Amino acid sequence: MNKIITVENLYKSYGHTKAVNGIDFYVDEGSLFAFLGPNGAGKTTTINILSTLLTKDDGEVIINGIKIGENEDDIRKSIGIVFQEGVLDPLLSVKENLETRGSFYGLTKDVLAERVEAALLVTGIQNIASRKYGSLSGGQKRRADIARALINAPKILFLDEPTTGLDPQTRKRVWNTIIDLQKEQKMTVFLTTHYMEEADKADYVVIIDNGKIVAKGTPSFLKDNYSKDLLKIKPINSSILEKNLNSRNILFEKKIDIYQVKLENSLESIDIINMNKDNIESFQVLNGTMDDAFINITGKEIRE
Ligand code: ADP
Repeated sequence: MNKIITVENLYKSYGHTKAVNGIDFYVDEGSLFAFLGPNGAGKTTTINILSTLLTKDDGEVIINGIKIGENEDDIRKSIGIVFQEGVLDPLLSVKENLETRGSFYGLTKDVLAERVEAALLVTGIQNIASRKYGSLSGGQKRRADIARALINAPKILFLDEPTTGLDPQTRKRVWNTIIDLQKEQKMTVFLTTHYMEEADKADYVVIIDNGKIVAKGTPSFLKDNYSKDLLKIKPINSSILEKNLNSRNILFEKKIDIYQVKLENSLESIDIINMNKDNIESFQVLNGTMDDAFINITGKEIRE
């Protein structure tokens, strides 16, 4: 697969703060790539360097075959960016905002009109194209922000926390728009997110903390290696179960009347269930989650 982004030995400091402290990774063309980390980890700094908004101190970044620092105009033509804060003019309509943005790219009138229509269509906001941006709901604004980033028909779309602050239903709608862009339009999507269920859908995940990469891999690799499966047992008789687990030095946590045992792998549950089978009212084996993997990798909750 073609590597559409390569980052090697990237450094960026602000005074004494080493925001990005020597990171390496790459992004496959057409993939959904999630860049995760706790607050202050260096995500925005990295995105800003990759999207040519900020200069690096050291290292090499190649975007769509072009080295950063060489021909940034061409890089800018091949990327779209959705910022955490919306950047559209609240007093202009959605369509006017898109047309204004499109005029920066020197498109002919016809191409511009086509691009505006395509961006409205793919983000599902044709029906609000003539509404003032300032009057839209949070989810509508987000989709308009995404539409703006699509005007130059980018190959790579950078999204910095695109769904933060939206209610769950709206978040899902914005998320579906993002997935459509990647799956249907074959766009490479590079996103940061605080939502582990979104990261779980990525093709590849890189986790950064204190400016350094602390883990990378597919969601299943990260869950297999950094999170534990969980056995939950509701016993008939609690003290018998406790005695049994204690006698085999099996650590457990009690949550009301449910006993939880962390497992290295889910097969371990078979022995525990067998040895207690006459004393089990019900049980459940749960696979490790991305949330769990993130906490185990960084030692922090993502929203801390
Ligand atoms: P994230 O996006 O992961 O929250 P950032 O890239 O915004 O992290 O920040 C990384 C580190 O760099 C933090 O310690 C932050 O305080 C610092 N930082 C970010 N931007 C600036 C800036 N413009 N001036 C000084 N320090 C900054």
